[in-house]
Amino acid sequence: MTGILVYSEDLDLQLQLLSKGRELSNNLAAKLYALVIGSNVEGHVASVLNYSDAVITIENKSLEHYDVELYKIGVVEAVKRVNPDVILIGATKFGKELAARTAAALDAGCMTECISLNIDKEGNLLAERLIYGGSSIALEKSRRKPHIAVISKNIFKRLEPSTKVAEVLRLDTDHPKSKVQILEKREKSKSDTGLEEASIIVAAGRGFKKKEDLDLLRELSSILGSKIGCTRPISADNGWLDEWIGISGKKVKPRLYIAFGISGTIQHAAGIRGSQIIVSVNQDEAAGIFEISDYGILGDLYTILPALIKVLKKVKKTES
Ligand SMILES: Cc1cc2nc3c(=O)[nH]c(=O)nc-3n(C[C@H](O)[C@H](O)[C@H](O)COP(=O)(O)OP(=O)(O)OC[C@H]3O[C@@H](n4cnc5c(N)ncnc54)[C@H](O)[C@@H]3O)c2cc1C
Repeated sequence: MTGILVYSEDLDLQLQLLSKGRELSNNLAAKLYALVIGSNVEGHVASVLNYSDAVITIENKSLEHYDVELYKIGVVEAVKRVNPDVILIGATKFGKELAARTAAALDAGCMTECISLNIDKEGNLLAERLIYGGSSIALEKSRRKPHIAVISKNIFKRLEPSTKVAEVLRLDTDHPKSKVQILEKREKSKSDTGLEEASIIVAAGRGFKKKEDLDLLRELSSILGSKIGCTRPISADNGWLDEWIGISGKKVKPRLYIAFGISGTIQHAAGIRGSQIIVSVNQDEAAGIFEISDYGILGDLYTILPALIKVLKKVKKTES
């Protein structure tokens, strides 16, 4: 095994993938490379130095914007230079497109939505992948090198940085003039819900009948110091909250996840599998959420939520 190359423009995600890459490279005695592409990349390079054996940097003014065609040239050049057996790419919107184009350019296989990675005795990459919108898991083997795997945030845990500092390899690459001309850039109105980093999340599903009823959840949230999440219909259909959790939304990994009126479909469950403790409140004893919960409360959320708030307020009062 020659090496493992890890790219994501999202630093946090790249560090998670480098942590997984470290585990694979330790088992295979392969070199672990972090790839950093862009203009003004010093900060990013400094952050991956203690997570890899070598950092390959491709820095160029023309790489200021995320132009997938130009970035693909960068990845291909890095591959030519270090000839890795495995390439891990972060599944951001940009990363997914970059991975597909890189695979086409290298005539390599590309496995998306990977949730576990291993190398078999022949050096092939084995991946468990979510398929059919997350309702099933397929175990697949990539047999053509370099093996490309695309992985979402919070699938793998970020490890502590090593004390070893990576060497830096600077690559000079030629990039043709971009075929895309950016006419205007506008900040996306973004509500930073902080769901991905939250240690406690209380979440709403369609068990909530009206938008105003979410005030109950907000009250609980302020007592617990938690973030508020929801299922896709609450956000995408009703527009009651900004971001949802699940396969097409945020993937979360809190210490405590409390689900109110959530049925626990596979699409939602895919986003909460990293939670340490799942508590669910549902009035239907056959609700699937109970199967993935550590604690289940069978009942009407409109009774249980106010009761929980009352008890927690009392506890807080006696504590203070
Ligand atoms: C391609 C695709 C991607 C998707 N991605 C996502 C995703 O990322 N995240 C996501 O969440 N969904 C996603 N969905 C939607 C998903 O399939 C479900 O429709 C959704 O998760 C269901 O949300 P829910 O649990 O809020 O609603 P429901 O399934 O309607 O469940 C509501 C639950 O509330 C309970 N309930 C009702 N009233 C009360 C009460 N008073 N007290 C207590 N319990 C009560 C009911 O028993 C029920 O179990 C996706 C769908 C598709 C097709």
